[in-house]
Amino acid sequence: MKLYDQHPISLTNSLSGKKELFKPITEGYVGMYVCGPTVYNNVHLGNTRTFLTFDIVSRYFRFLGYKVRYVRNITDVGHLTDDADAGEDKIGKKARLEQLEPMEVVKRYTEDFHGVMRLFNILPPSIEPSATAHIIEQIEITKKLIDLGLAYEVNGSVYFDVKKYNQSHHYGILSGRNIEELMESGRDLDSQDEKREKVDFALWKKAAEEHIMRWPSPWGNGFPGWHIECTVMSTKYLGETFDIHGGGMDLKFPHHECEIAQATGANGKVPVNYWLHSNMLTVNGQKMSKSLGNSFLPAELLSGNHPLLDKGYSAMTTRFFMLQSHYSSTLDFSNEALQAAEKAYQRLSSALKVIKTELNKVNDSVHDENLEKHLNTLCDQCYKCMSDDFNTAKTLAVLFEMSSQINLWKHGSTASTLINISHETFNRFKETYIRFMEDVLGLKEEQNQNNNALDGAIKVLIDLRKKARTDRNYALSDKIRDDLKAAGIQLKDGKDGEMSYELE
Ligand SMILES: [Zn+2]
Repeated sequence: MKLYDQHPISLTNSLSGKKELFKPITEGYVGMYVCGPTVYNNVHLGNTRTFLTFDIVSRYFRFLGYKVRYVRNITDVGHLTDDADAGEDKIGKKARLEQLEPMEVVKRYTEDFHGVMRLFNILPPSIEPSATAHIIEQIEITKKLIDLGLAYEVNGSVYFDVKKYNQSHHYGILSGRNIEELMESGRDLDSQDEKREKVDFALWKKAAEEHIMRWPSPWGNGFPGWHIECTVMSTKYLGETFDIHGGGMDLKFPHHECEIAQATGANGKVPVNYWLHSNMLTVNGQKMSKSLGNSFLPAELLSGNHPLLDKGYSAMTTRFFMLQSHYSSTLDFSNEALQAAEKAYQRLSSALKVIKTELNKVNDSVHDENLEKHLNTLCDQCYKCMSDDFNTAKTLAVLFEMSSQINLWKHGSTASTLINISHETFNRFKETYIRFMEDVLGLKEEQNQNNNALDGAIKVLIDLRKKARTDRNYALSDKIRDDLKAAGIQLKDGKDGEMSYELE
């Protein structure tokens, strides 16, 4: 019997608003698509939470033995500064401001994004397609929607006809929005608007003279609308109907609603069985946003170099902090919460080290039946909590109980106390703790960043190196730097001649 048969997963489907039992389209396989970043600036911590959520989802499916094809795109064209089909292309605007080729902008921020993902131990997806590599497919589906009478061309641009679609389908099925209200609400169509209804959205936009990113199409030179890329890339790599589509809560409307309309309209099939949405990160109760000045870049978080931070926090502390709440709840970011997370994470992390290396005095001849039962229940609970809508918060609570047991053993074992349980139970307990920490939650052992003894010792070496440089003994100064690097400690030269270090 496969692990996934023993631990069926239930998840909250945004389509129904209910918790549902997960049934894959093909037994043993999961196809998942997640909307990736628009690569025109540095990712902030709020974006990171979304990708962490789906990292956990894909890790847990894999842990249970599913083969997962995880597709997460890179939006490198078509996402306009105003989400309602107006304004400039975000990448194009940045390219103009920084006097770069659009693809230079894309490369710079894609690399930044990958670096941040690695930092937080967020595993790469199986496929990471980009919108500009799928222009042909986007033109093809747009042509198809026109042929089906679900889209219309005006002056070199093509729009999706929401009203027409809604005659035979339900626009608003995911977000609960009402199309009549959407058509009536807000500003009236101004005279320059080419759309038949305000609720219609662009599949293809005509490129103005100054627009840098452009491709030829049957409607003249232009570029794709934002929503269509996700429909094209998800169905290309996962099929016309696939298991899971994820993204941040803010993408539910209009982006995901439009994706459903495009795919259902073009293929005549419901594209996605389960929609998952992760909630946002708030700072002291306010939404994290660049314009409010309360968004953090990961580098600022690590260094503590931000007006809202008392000090720096490590990537694993932050990962742990985010996993302390369920992905569907808002998560509030504050110094107090991070400090508490730092301490709590160190407890789990040191227990991980202990169980990996120090505990070996299992006495299989005398069994403490109650303890045996208790430990097995804790192991079962890890699976139960994760299978219940990927509840990392509850899973961490169980891991804390397990860490208390590990600490009891650690202190007992120094006084030659034996662990009176069967090898089988001990091994199960040990494996469950390690694998849930490392494989499921992706929490790695971390060096204690605030280790005073280590700080002191490195300071001595830094002073020696400074002295060597003053004495022009560059061979010695280089040797100190290189030997420290070999030991996993990187020295950094500061602006004012000061030196700092970082553990690799
Ligand atoms: Zn998307």
